[in-house]
Amino acid sequence: MCVEKTPWEQVTDFHGHTCPGIAIGYRVAVLAQKEMGIRPTSDSELLIKAESRSCALDAFQIINKATIGRKALMIEDTHQPIYWFHFAGTQELLKISVNSALMKRLDSSHPGPLSPREKQNRNLEMIQLILTTDEEDFCSLERVPGVLTKG
Ligand SMILES: [Zn+2]
Repeated sequence: MCVEKTPWEQVTDFHGHTCPGIAIGYRVAVLAQKEMGIRPTSDSELLIKAESRSCALDAFQIINKATIGRKALMIEDTHQPIYWFHFAGTQELLKISVNSALMKRLDSSHPGPLSPREKQNRNLEMIQLILTTDEEDFCSLERVPGVLTKG
């Protein structure tokens, strides 16, 4: 019997490990997919610009099918957890900004060295937090006029 992998499993398989960064990417990618809806035309391509280079990017390549190779996934590194989504041919951008309080919580270093077991537990705790926190505590969504162009 062949059991279909869940989107989360597909993403973490592709990424190669399970970490808070890929959990952020996964949640942003799924939200964007829901917010953007279906393609306005069959040949309209979804373009994404990320303002930080992180593990999160791999989720967009699986969930949103915006790949680096096709230049549909662009990176303009300002070290902000901000992601822009755009259907080519439209005049609207969706901006998703991950809550900075949440990012701070993820970054906050733990006092003292952690054992591998503790590290793993903390990792799982962070992933759980990212995937289950209320949407308004996770990010803010904004629709703004504009376009992304492949660069
Ligand atoms: Zn990672």
